[in-house]
Amino acid sequence: MPTPDAAASPLDLLASPAPIPCEEIAAHPEFRALLTIPGIAVDLRYATPDNFVGRAVYGGLDCAYLRRESADAVEQAAAWLARHCPGVTLVVLDALRPQRVQEALWAELEGTPLTRYLAHPARRSIHSFGMAVDVTLLDADGRELDMGTGFDEMTPASHPEFEAEQLASGGLTAEQLRHRGWLRAAMRQAGFQTISTEWWHFDFGDRDQVRRSLPLVL
Ligand SMILES: [Zn+2]
Repeated sequence: MPTPDAAASPLDLLASPAPIPCEEIAAHPEFRALLTIPGIAVDLRYATPDNFVGRAVYGGLDCAYLRRESADAVEQAAAWLARHCPGVTLVVLDALRPQRVQEALWAELEGTPLTRYLAHPARRSIHSFGMAVDVTLLDADGRELDMGTGFDEMTPASHPEFEAEQLASGGLTAEQLRHRGWLRAAMRQAGFQTISTEWWHFDFGDRDQVRRSLPLVL
């Protein structure tokens, strides 16, 4: 007579924690609503047609959450900006992106070169753990600071890795790079990491460890 865990392999024992349906996030103690973070603006573009897909992709889900540790770090980034760049406000463009939304986005881009800008749903986006955030900066009048390219503009000028050559060739200006520098400084001192392809995207903590140890939001 097999015991209940007789079939468990060492790999099973290392498996990630059970996923959480997005509908349970609002009452989940490990998540924090973006609206409770002081000093930021929230403008979730995938909740509206104002995104590269051209329609709302959250499907009515309330995605205005992050895991508590990354939300606390966003609060720290906003406080840093208030001290070092008075009048400049952090605005969150995307935060928690449930796995089902990641799958919808992937379906939109599949078969195009733009898939390099998106984590394959099977690989798990850090957004789907509530540990990545897309952000930019607003000026004192609430207008977006000029970063050279817009959010989700999938061109080389959006790649932090090409900024030096873009500056040299006139593709980006020193002022645009200064704005990106403020954003990165605020986010990095709070513990976020940059990626090479999107100036607006920041991951909190180690990506591999996030994928291994935290529950995916479905
Ligand atoms: Zn992102």
